[in-house]
Amino acid sequence: MTSRERRAARELTDFLTRLFGPDATISVDPMPARPQHPERVELEATVKRAAALPADLDKRTRRRDTPEGTALAVEIAERYVAIRSARYALPSGLVPTTCSLVSEGLERDYANLFPEGTLQVDTPWLELARAAAETFAGHRVLDGVKSSQVKSKFAELRWYTEGLPEETGDEVAAIIDAASCLSTVICETCGGPGAYRKGGWVKIACDVCDAAKRRKL
Ligand SMILES: [Zn+2]
Repeated sequence: MTSRERRAARELTDFLTRLFGPDATISVDPMPARPQHPERVELEATVKRAAALPADLDKRTRRRDTPEGTALAVEIAERYVAIRSARYALPSGLVPTTCSLVSEGLERDYANLFPEGTLQVDTPWLELARAAAETFAGHRVLDGVKSSQVKSKFAELRWYTEGLPEETGDEVAAIIDAASCLSTVICETCGGPGAYRKGGWVKIACDVCDAAKRRKL
């Protein structure tokens, strides 16, 4: 594996371990880059879940406690890490971008899905929203889906739509639900693997961003 692949594999494994608990068996393999995205590191993850999720696992993540929910969360996590890998800087860190640049890109690429002004989260969860949008497209359920608001509430991605198509609505809702579950392990500040933090303003944060915030308080 290249160093970028190793870094992506480490991150993907960390996200999935946080979602499915330390007893899950997770393996990650490099995949050929998709021709339309040569800048990304593509990985495929296989998750063999433990018989029961750990009792102390965040109860909000339990909704994906079905084979379909598990498969969707894994697929969105793979896509999220691939999107994020396009900004990997050497030897570490990320090439900076801005929230408005990322949301403009999403509105441009998915104009029907994200009408102007609906995206109200920071860069990491915008990249998660792109991963979900690509999952809609991959499952051929993108048509007819229009968001009314995508925001962070109580440290979770909340994605509201203006109704859903009758035929594909259940699958769209399941993808949105899996993306919300995944958001509970994605640092809202830097996009790395994070956890729920209590405090005056609940947030998902990694250890580094959480420590930085506490120093400022
Ligand atoms: Zn962070």
